[in-house]
Amino acid sequence: MSAFGTVFMPEMAIAWFDGSSWSQPEVVASDSIQLHPGAHVLHYSSTCFEGLKAFRHADGSIKVFRIDRNMARFAQSSELLSLPAIDSAMSTKMVLDLVARFASDVPEPPGSMYIRPTHFGTEAAIGKAAAPSMSSCQYVLLSPVGDYFAGGDACLRLLLEDDMRCAAHMGRVKSGGNYASALGPILRARKEHQADQVLFCPNGDVQETGAANFLLIDGDEIITKALDDSFLHGVTRDSILTIARDLGMTVSERSLSVDELIERAAKPGCEAALSGTAAVLTPVGTLIHQGKEITVGSGKPGATTIKLRQTLNDIQWGKAEDRHGWLTSL
Ligand SMILES: *Cc1c(COP(=O)(O)O)cnc(C)c1O
Repeated sequence: MSAFGTVFMPEMAIAWFDGSSWSQPEVVASDSIQLHPGAHVLHYSSTCFEGLKAFRHADGSIKVFRIDRNMARFAQSSELLSLPAIDSAMSTKMVLDLVARFASDVPEPPGSMYIRPTHFGTEAAIGKAAAPSMSSCQYVLLSPVGDYFAGGDACLRLLLEDDMRCAAHMGRVKSGGNYASALGPILRARKEHQADQVLFCPNGDVQETGAANFLLIDGDEIITKALDDSFLHGVTRDSILTIARDLGMTVSERSLSVDELIERAAKPGCEAALSGTAAVLTPVGTLIHQGKEITVGSGKPGATTIKLRQTLNDIQWGKAEDRHGWLTSL
């Protein structure tokens, strides 16, 4: 099977902002983008993206999950990067029209169509280190993806780092530079600790990993950092918390210190997981802190983690009622 995100549909939707208005979106070949080497994005990282999925239901219909949330975040990221404003209605239509064009390519469950809207500054101006790009481009790429858990339910190893993932005011922006800045620590953690990911905990405050939110599940309580500017507000995080409330669990959105995490994680029955669109909810089995390894609960995928993930998948695949109106038809 191909690695996640390496297979693309042959065409993408694209629109250009010329400094005053957006062009009519077009469908063009997925490899047909032309940029000036002086484009703002290539020098000053004026870029943001989104990740959402379309699902094939048993009746053959295709539904897109929580597109309103992703488009709102896309608009917010664009604004926080001082990119031209996107027109959310136009961007939403670009996504839905493109998915409809490739509806027959949306994989059967447990696969799905991963959707990657992207927006970046195109102005050819290498003297604009401290000024925004007046022109920009947005496109939507589609990538059919298989079962993320095809290899079985491996539990992740997380290295706890007393470090920031990105600049504190940029956490909730889904922007390229944040990922580049987190790469060094992640590669070091893989090499030196055989860790899968770094859990960034600046000043002992548990934040998130490079591309997923962190949840601690202790019995009937689910604990995760309350929303602030320092980390990415995941749509999966919000969906899992909503499902947890629906199931009668106690949801605690608050600060979680490394000390509390380590103390609670080792208890029998405790679980930890990462949430994100690509991996849905991935169990964490080991925390690595100051040279020590802490096994989370049994070290195996927890029953609550599996149940929450299954409930979310069932809604996405149309096997459970969409009580919150999360699915959009094409
Ligand atoms: C995308 C992302 C997430 C997860 O967001 P979802 O909307 O759930 O996919 C979490 N953290 C970071 C840093 C991300 O980039």
